Amino acid sequence: MARLEIRSLRKRFDDVDVIKGVDLEVEDREFCVFLGPSGCGKSTLLRLIAGLEDVDEGNLLLDGGDITDLPAVNRNLAMVFQSYALYPHMTVRENMSFALKLAKAEPDVIAKKVERAARILALEPLLDRKPAALSGGQRQRVAIGRAIVREPRIFLFDEPLSNLDAALRVQMRLEIARLHQELKATTIYVTHDQVEAMTLADKVVIFNAGRIEQVGSPLDLYRRPANRFVAGFLGMPQ
Ligand code: ADP
Ligand code: MG
Repeated sequence: MARLEIRSLRKRFDDVDVIKGVDLEVEDREFCVFLGPSGCGKSTLLRLIAGLEDVDEGNLLLDGGDITDLPAVNRNLAMVFQSYALYPHMTVRENMSFALKLAKAEPDVIAKKVERAARILALEPLLDRKPAALSGGQRQRVAIGRAIVREPRIFLFDEPLSNLDAALRVQMRLEIARLHQELKATTIYVTHDQVEAMTLADKVVIFNAGRIEQVGSPLDLYRRPANRFVAGFLGMPQ
């Protein structure tokens, strides 16, 4: 189980309110997409969930337990960024093993988990290569593989495809959809790309200027946009 509740969450940087009171529930196994324009606070919200920023006000609950003040390492959430942040001197296998080694997992357990992730992501032929010898799409797959081996309670993706070219983006989008079919893990996926959001999401959260404008299934949003912002952002006639 991994069900996240966000209650009255607020965050300011210097004198600027960036997250202005967010309430949201992400259900177990749900694929939830935060969609909104650049600068609206999507990454900040994700970083608050991950524990990479301190919350100013409000609470985060995971399966009913309060994690608001829990250090990031103890939340068991895995974040995948748009810059892949792989270790350049390590092979793919070593990159994927690293977090488990730090956690002092048994070598045969590590090997099994890495093999499974490599199979899911079609990385088996690349396990002994270093990141410099991989394409952008392959690197992003390794970054996702690193998240998978940790068996996180929630996957957090921050615009993971925005550094890829258009064709690769379409391919990786399909792979992420397939991955979710296979793993059925709770996922929060940040993007400013409407097509990505609508094709991947069970639930879309339309975000704007630090606030939620609307929450719904892709179909709900197209059928009943809550306001002019949502309609405009989705490119509908107003
Ligand atoms: P998005 O991911 O939707 O593009 P961000 O969450 O990155 O938006 O940023 C939202 C706002 O918060 C922006 O105005 C940004 O400049 C500001 N911001 C983000 N992180 C910091 C920080 N560490 N210090 C100061 N301002 C920040
Ligand atoms: Mg961002």
